[in-house]
Amino acid sequence: MGHITDNLYQVHQELASLINQAGRTKESVKLLCVSKTKPQEAIIEAYNCGERLFGESYVNEAVTKIQALKALGYTDLKWHFIGPLQSNKTKAVAENFDMVESVDRIKVMQRLNLQRPASLGPLEILIEVNISHEAQKSGCALEELESLIDYCKQCPNLRLRGLMGIATDTQDKALIKEEFSTLAALFAKYAQEFEHFDILSMGMTHDMAEAILLGSTEVRIGTAIFGPREYKNKE
Ligand SMILES: *Cc1c(COP(=O)(O)O)cnc(C)c1O
Repeated sequence: MGHITDNLYQVHQELASLINQAGRTKESVKLLCVSKTKPQEAIIEAYNCGERLFGESYVNEAVTKIQALKALGYTDLKWHFIGPLQSNKTKAVAENFDMVESVDRIKVMQRLNLQRPASLGPLEILIEVNISHEAQKSGCALEELESLIDYCKQCPNLRLRGLMGIATDTQDKALIKEEFSTLAALFAKYAQEFEHFDILSMGMTHDMAEAILLGSTEVRIGTAIFGPREYKNKE
């Protein structure tokens, strides 16, 4: 039994306790295992523990791993793209991923819609909203969300499932809660309006407690499962 197996056991224990404290059900929060920079053996170990949802941030690295694992017969994993997406990389993402959580502009939506192979069915989409007070580049501004949702709704090869957000990287729990609350309120508004708008992706290793308390339906956990990332990808 390796470290990842132990770590996953701990993560599930912690999630269960947080979900319980929040008065929520176990099924209402999914675990996305963030495997960026980690080798395929690490993914296989998590797979053997029952995990099926994996998140990647770097296109070239991810596509290599996705294809290698498929060739080995691992065909029932779901791959979520969670990193910044440049328009020259949308084709590889449209062809290899099940969901893109980091869509934050129309140009990217337009390209993903055109490049999604029909045989794969619609690509699932979360719109990333910039909720942090940092001058952070990823995510659309709050004021842009409505027009992005309208656009996405008109793309036949995209299926809008919800929202994603990254809180400020800080020890200030009050600030993190304020940011997650903003996202949760937007999510609740559109979830009432649209069918299948049911995924609120928020919470990472250091802020999953706040995220679960505030209604996250998917936490994206890397470090707590796979350990610290070993290298900085220069892609
Ligand atoms: C890397 C990453 C994560 C995982 O972060 P950890 O702190 O390692 O849990 C989650 N979300 C996004 C968007 C990431 O890029």
